Amino acid sequence: MAFRSLLIIVVFIGTVIAGASAAQAAQLTIGGTARVVTDDGTGLNLRGEPSREADIIGSANEGDRVTVIDGPYTDEAGEPWYLVDTGNATGYAIAEFLVARDGDAPSQQSSGSSYQFRADDIGRIPVLMYHHIDYSGGTYAVTPEQLSEQMNWLATNGYTSITLAEFYHGAFAGGFLPAKPVVLTVDDGWTSALTFADILSWYGLTGNYFVTTEGALTWDEIAYLGQIGEVENHTTSHAVLSSRGYEDQYAEIANNTAYLEGATGQTVQFIAWPYGDWNWSAVQAAADSGLIAGFDAWGGPADFTALDPWHIPRVLIAGDYDLETFTAVIGA
Ligand SMILES: [Zn+2]
Repeated sequence: MAFRSLLIIVVFIGTVIAGASAAQAAQLTIGGTARVVTDDGTGLNLRGEPSREADIIGSANEGDRVTVIDGPYTDEAGEPWYLVDTGNATGYAIAEFLVARDGDAPSQQSSGSSYQFRADDIGRIPVLMYHHIDYSGGTYAVTPEQLSEQMNWLATNGYTSITLAEFYHGAFAGGFLPAKPVVLTVDDGWTSALTFADILSWYGLTGNYFVTTEGALTWDEIAYLGQIGEVENHTTSHAVLSSRGYEDQYAEIANNTAYLEGATGQTVQFIAWPYGDWNWSAVQAAADSGLIAGFDAWGGPADFTALDPWHIPRVLIAGDYDLETFTAVIGA
């Protein structure tokens, strides 16, 4: 009798857990992103098939962001799984430990955002570069109204904003991409990066933030941007790197990485060269500090078939661009 009661309790608990998993699974968007949240902070195994019995082929750390490629799948125990991409590995993850990210909006669910294309299918991809989002004027300031108009155009014309990690994985590791990817970046760490974030989230788009240590954003604001986008290296002091020796270059880069990782809890992997300035010693310092790619401050849409990982071109979106100029420079 006691055994029978226990069995009933076990079955009951199992049903509740499966129910909770199904509820979470329903929130994930194919082509969207999810965060790894486990109950013990140990991270998540990626498996070769959607089953606890399948081989472990990779892992994701607690707090990591993953791209949801497909799913849900149901295993033999009735638990839902998703095929996800971590930027380093692609495999099946149990849905119980995947939580939909805030800021993923319905506009990302359009059919064009399904991740089923390779770099060769895409050809060119624009990496947009912004600085100020305000009314200060000049080349490096775009007004909130301009940015809104541009983001609305991207969202309604089938573009999917991808992170720098997704871009890198697609370019150099054969990762899957949406049909019309675009990368949205804003430099320096001015307070108007928060305006940039607000406007992008309105259109269901994700931003990437190149932030200096000595910029205007507070620690908490940087942490917030890391929650809704990707925060990456722009050196400690916005240094003219080519004017420094290797030791200085390394310190400017490594100290900025440590600061940003402290604020966001996420790994910094990319640098935008301040002023678009670099030399081979700076590239060496960036690589030695653990970064894997660098972004220039000019150039047209990046050619996926001919990319130098340390000099990925970006498209400056200048303050005097109307919508017609905007669509022309991004190669639409
Ligand atoms: Zn800058």
